[in-house]
Amino acid sequence: MADADSSSAATPSATRCGRCQTALTDSERVPAQDRFFCRTCYEILKLQLRTTVASMSENVNYPMALLGAVLGGVAGALVWWGFTVLTKIGLGLIAVGIGFLVGHGAARGAGGKRSAGLQALSVAVGAVSFLVAAYLVNMTFINQELAQQGRPVRVPFPPASLGMFFHVLAANFGVMKLVFLAIVVYEAWIIPRPVKLPA
Ligand SMILES: [Zn+2]
Repeated sequence: MADADSSSAATPSATRCGRCQTALTDSERVPAQDRFFCRTCYEILKLQLRTTVASMSENVNYPMALLGAVLGGVAGALVWWGFTVLTKIGLGLIAVGIGFLVGHGAARGAGGKRSAGLQALSVAVGAVSFLVAAYLVNMTFINQELAQQGRPVRVPFPPASLGMFFHVLAANFGVMKLVFLAIVVYEAWIIPRPVKLPA
């Protein structure tokens, strides 16, 4: 049957479908990257691709994703806390690290899945991780100051209340912290983003 198609004089050097090897005329072939497909195969491949991409966002194991994200967030927050206390420099690169670890933790925890739900989970865990890390940094510096003044009170971890948490954070929450938070959120958002196919 392929012979009958390719015998046409209009296609002296017949292009063949990359999937079924049918010879194709110029009007029949559909270009895809470095090869051509017949219309039928192109539709089949397109459907397979869509199914594969859709399955990446299905049956997401959210409890495991949460666990992965939290582990990433804890690791990133500890590095940020340690580095900032030791050097007294809030390094943006480590903020990227928190978002990176949380985003990949969520995606890995879910078994390599990607979905809008994972993005939301990842952003929430990333933001909380960064804020907790910022709290830990302030707590350490405030407690050092209190110790130098010989006062017995200490800022505790975990904070006694949400009010205390934000009060300690607000002590030096400036533009740079906001920039770092934005970086964390961006990284956490972009990593588990579902693959979008062109129409
Ligand atoms: Zn074909």
